[in-house]
Amino acid sequence: MKEKVQHGNLKNNFMFKKCLLFTLTFFAFFSCADKKHEIKQEQHEIKQEQKDTTKVFGCMDTTMFNYNPLANTQPANVCIPKFNSDSAYYYIEKQVSFGPRFLSSVGWKNCALWLEKKLNSYCSNVIVQTAPTTTYDGKTHTLKNIIASFNPNKKNRVVLFAHWDTRHIADYDTKNKKDPILGANDGGSGVAVLIELARQFSLQPPNIGIDIVLFDAEDYGQPEKSEYPKMENSWCLGSQYWSKNPHKKNYTAKYGILLDMVGAKNATFRFEEISRTYAKHILNKVWKKGHQLGFEKYFIFENTGPIVDDHLYVNMILKTIPTIDIIEYDPATITNFNKHWHTHNDNMQNVNRETLNAVGQTLLDVIYNE
Ligand SMILES: [Zn+2]
Repeated sequence: MKEKVQHGNLKNNFMFKKCLLFTLTFFAFFSCADKKHEIKQEQHEIKQEQKDTTKVFGCMDTTMFNYNPLANTQPANVCIPKFNSDSAYYYIEKQVSFGPRFLSSVGWKNCALWLEKKLNSYCSNVIVQTAPTTTYDGKTHTLKNIIASFNPNKKNRVVLFAHWDTRHIADYDTKNKKDPILGANDGGSGVAVLIELARQFSLQPPNIGIDIVLFDAEDYGQPEKSEYPKMENSWCLGSQYWSKNPHKKNYTAKYGILLDMVGAKNATFRFEEISRTYAKHILNKVWKKGHQLGFEKYFIFENTGPIVDDHLYVNMILKTIPTIDIIEYDPATITNFNKHWHTHNDNMQNVNRETLNAVGQTLLDVIYNE
């Protein structure tokens, strides 16, 4: 989108092949395999949770223990959970198994139910904020922001954001541009990291309050070439609504972190301009932590231009929560997004556990040091 570009104005040249066949096969596979896989994954999660619980008790007994090699930079008694990238990967697979998840679609309805149920299994304070909304194409919907609050009475809070909807069209693909995308990375990855964090918070509650806010309708923005009249602020409808109507009266938090497209192999994250303008100290804090943990190839200390994303509205409308965006920046593409951005190739083949781990572990270290 223009200078404040979320959605650049030049086409990428990615070659797209046999997408429909792939998509159909993909859905067929999941509809058969899903139940079995889910059971397998639930077993895996239970096993992992048992392992994690043991580790938590170990930490409690050994107060100076910290797996972080740079423990001297942290207060004593801090035990930082280990992010599980297998779980995060599975949470993307699960979202993708519902199919595209744009406003009012079948996948969107089913995924909302799963997200609510999943967060409820880790947190006793989950609400679904609903609001009527109209998209640029004149369609009316009811958007759903899904919110989980850990330690709801604590004043000292951090808020974590991601968008759970996916793009309703593949406007940057070369084929089947009018068909919706799976959004494994764009949508799925940020949500998956936050669900894995929720699981960790349930095993070892952090000292501070945490809100996880999954925004709806980030990606239903008006395309560059549109037959409809120009609509301002057509992107980020869920975050615009939440920023005007936070889920709690007088809600505030010390800072906010938005995750968007955090799942691609070798993704790099930089100092995006809106984040820099509103919350440079948080960028520094998170990037430094990433470097301390050995994730310097992901967190680059380099400035980029502004990106229209949910953090823009949180910063501009709500104003009281300085919020950064951890979003992939690819200097090699014309759009500066991942080459699969808004194409049918934003699927599981391009999801990478190491990247999910770099982001998830960095967030855990930031949060448990608050
Ligand atoms: Zn998008």
